[in-house]
Amino acid sequence: MKKRRKGLCILLAIMLLVSGCGKETKKEEATLINSAPLNIIDDNYRNYYEVFVYSFCDGDGDGIGDFKGLTSKLDYINDGDDKTDSDMGFNGIWLMPIMQSTTYHKYDVVDYYNIDKEYGTLDDFKAFMVECEKRNIKVILDLVMNHTSSQHEWFIEATEYIKSLKEGQEPSAKENKYFGYYNFTKEPQGTKYYQVGNTEWYYEAGFVSEMPDLNLGNQEVRKEFEEIVKYWMDLGVGGFRLDAAKEYYSDNTEKNNEVLAWLNHTVKAIDKDAYIVAEVWTPFNTYSQYYKSGIDSVFDFAFADANGKIVKTLNYTGSDNSGKALGQSFITLQEKLSELNPNYIDAPFFTNHDLARAAGYFSGDNQTEKTKMAGAINLMMNGSAFVYYGEELGMNGSGIDENKRAPMRWSKEETKEGMCRGPVAMERIEQEYDSLEEQQKDDNSIYNFYKQAVKLRNQNPEIARGLVTYIDEVTDEDICAITKEYNGSKIHILMNVSAEAKSVSLSKETYSYNELRGALKTGKDNVLLKGETVKLPPYSVAILK
Ligand code: CA
Repeated sequence: MKKRRKGLCILLAIMLLVSGCGKETKKEEATLINSAPLNIIDDNYRNYYEVFVYSFCDGDGDGIGDFKGLTSKLDYINDGDDKTDSDMGFNGIWLMPIMQSTTYHKYDVVDYYNIDKEYGTLDDFKAFMVECEKRNIKVILDLVMNHTSSQHEWFIEATEYIKSLKEGQEPSAKENKYFGYYNFTKEPQGTKYYQVGNTEWYYEAGFVSEMPDLNLGNQEVRKEFEEIVKYWMDLGVGGFRLDAAKEYYSDNTEKNNEVLAWLNHTVKAIDKDAYIVAEVWTPFNTYSQYYKSGIDSVFDFAFADANGKIVKTLNYTGSDNSGKALGQSFITLQEKLSELNPNYIDAPFFTNHDLARAAGYFSGDNQTEKTKMAGAINLMMNGSAFVYYGEELGMNGSGIDENKRAPMRWSKEETKEGMCRGPVAMERIEQEYDSLEEQQKDDNSIYNFYKQAVKLRNQNPEIARGLVTYIDEVTDEDICAITKEYNGSKIHILMNVSAEAKSVSLSKETYSYNELRGALKTGKDNVLLKGETVKLPPYSVAILK
């Protein structure tokens, strides 16, 4: 008996030795899949996931996404456990409009104090917020202040009032306050005005006739929104994404900034740590001016979309779009934005619900590698980075807006539990890449790439918060090389934005780094650090620390 046990022990020892050798190889791989500890700072530099509830996850089987469904998928977004590696690691969610509305997209609000019935009940929302709180996910709501639905009671009251006037009687906001809520006129200018019934009055509606523009100069309207933001913040909401901020006063930056400054003050008085990001869909020289309002962030449109900086860099067409130019653009951003608001937080994104999905931005050689690398550039930028749901799967969708808001591809089986049917007008979309189920099993998938990129942000707070300097000596057409310093800690980010493998040498003494802190590869070849030389395969990222 004893002898046999001794034999067993020797066998066990041999097995341990063998498995120990296995671990050595694994350890080497582990370095490459970014094994540094997480260092997540609880501030407003977050990794946001933009969710369209309608198309995300259906919790009750009617084909329309809802809060029950979204809550059931929170473990995918962030399970709240730093020890697991099965979640995406987003610690912020931007919810596209959730308030009661008449359309599938819900940008025309009928009731600012309720959840749209398609999405569930207020209790479902509260349950969702409890789960987000547990996971330290900050939830920001899409707040539509530029207009309401024409079915909103304010607008119905105002137009009924106008229609009730006797001939020769002039309306006044004193008599009916809702008359002052919108922009009514007897002298419409341009095409954005619509008649109120058969009266001589018209109302402004910049988007469509069913979305009348609010008069944000009216103090009563402002009081309404002061109550609305308070209501949602009391339910745990951590901030707002401001829809169509340039339209408040059509393209009048100064007046729009006054509105933003008022809202910022209102929101921060309730919670100083709240976060506000505005959509100002204009060229950089215009949207950057909105930082003067004092809000935290303005979406960085210059880097997004098929014609943005990221795509131009990867579809290199000349030195304006080189790795070097990309690095310089980060410096320019930093200089210009900090001048306008020293507390600015950039809001880089690559696509959103109004833009064609990124998988269609690239074609030909290296299409998949470029799709991944675009996500990497987005996620290596300073600020709060935003990722549109489904981009981590390389989903397709272009043309009409509905196609850009297609069901999250949890599975290739469209009838599988949780799958949404998508907007009614959505066309048939051919998907190039697998659904989540297959991509989860493939280490080289777009999904696993995005997960690693988000993880790097969660391991290295310098990425989102660091002061950027430019490493001139190794930067060239193909390599974007920058240093980021935060709280006395420096990292160096090297991005190979070309289709060629590159070797970059960086003096350890000058740049005081010890290790390859993290890396992203788009193909099968690994990023390697040997001595002072970094081997960067095509379209890859190395972080040195
Ligand atoms: Ca549903």
